[in-house]
Amino acid sequence: MIIDRIDIIRVKVPFVHPFETSFTRFVERDALIVKIYSEGLIGYGECKAFYGPLYNPEDNGTCLHIIKNIIAPVILHKDIEGPAEFMAEVSFIVGNRLAKAAIENALWELKSQREGKSLKTLLGGTQNEVKVGVSLGIEPTIPALLNKIEKYLAEGYHRTKIKIKPGKDIEVLREVRRHYPDITLTVDANSDYTLDDIELFKAMDDLNLQYIEQPLGEDDIVDHAVLQKAIKTPICLDESIVSVDIARNAIELGSCKIINIKSSRCGGLCESIKIHDLCMEHDIPIWVGGMTELGIGRAQNISFASLPNFASLAHDIAASNRYFAEDITIPYVTITPSCTLVVPDDTNGVRYEVDEKAIDRMMVSRDVIK
Ligand SMILES: [Mg+2]
Repeated sequence: MIIDRIDIIRVKVPFVHPFETSFTRFVERDALIVKIYSEGLIGYGECKAFYGPLYNPEDNGTCLHIIKNIIAPVILHKDIEGPAEFMAEVSFIVGNRLAKAAIENALWELKSQREGKSLKTLLGGTQNEVKVGVSLGIEPTIPALLNKIEKYLAEGYHRTKIKIKPGKDIEVLREVRRHYPDITLTVDANSDYTLDDIELFKAMDDLNLQYIEQPLGEDDIVDHAVLQKAIKTPICLDESIVSVDIARNAIELGSCKIINIKSSRCGGLCESIKIHDLCMEHDIPIWVGGMTELGIGRAQNISFASLPNFASLAHDIAASNRYFAEDITIPYVTITPSCTLVVPDDTNGVRYEVDEKAIDRMMVSRDVIK
């Protein structure tokens, strides 16, 4: 496919409820949307970076630079066979995986249109619906958190995940368990602890957590292996898993028993399929993580989650209205009464179209490269 033009559109979309993690308090989704024009077709990709380098080293400023000044000159007016060939073309760029993934995702959309096949079909998806879990930010008080849990349990979410940080961890979790002894409960530490906290994690073994997500450093897999050997609760690696090679090392070291794949963090869907396949070979359950995506990224996550090894655990792919009053797809992503998401397919009529008018309303800048 010949790449005729690339638009990089920066949007800002307020969150319905500000969202607190161990690293920041989000009040709006500051995001880049890439729009690739190719031979009369348009493919969209969503860059998952945040306003600053808070979750990983990239942010929207660096991604704009990499896409505009480094990637675009490589592909503009060139004939790019597809996403895999694109990734080979930009393999000279070290890191910058979120930037590469934004373009890679748009190329998957173009491939889908050119071949008349859904993304699910192209990726090798096998499931028609995927299970949804809820991820709750750090609340100011325990009663506030319990209220939130109650609300989402009533809506039927398949798993409750609580963000923790030092000082807001074990006591909070014990209270949650006291109120809800039987729910599927997980925690996400977003790398906020060290091996000095090993006794804290041993104490969590009494709480019947499905897993503890990314307790230690984002670039560590060695200390995680030490911790995993010391506790019974499975460790789920999130931030550490940025490539299939790191995933292979983590599995061989015994650093985790579960992996959360955020495809953009791994440079896109091509690399993420390799991680999926590797984990399936090693009986490592996986699930699809969220980065408070707008509808374009959210819909692609649903298609990715339809691959076979994603069947056991719930995903962080919520309905659009969990985060936003207004989204950029038609329709918005909604969940079924049984708290699942229907995977867009060639046969079931589920499709998410991009709402260009909504993007225009949210746009704060637009770079056109042609
Ligand atoms: Mg996480």
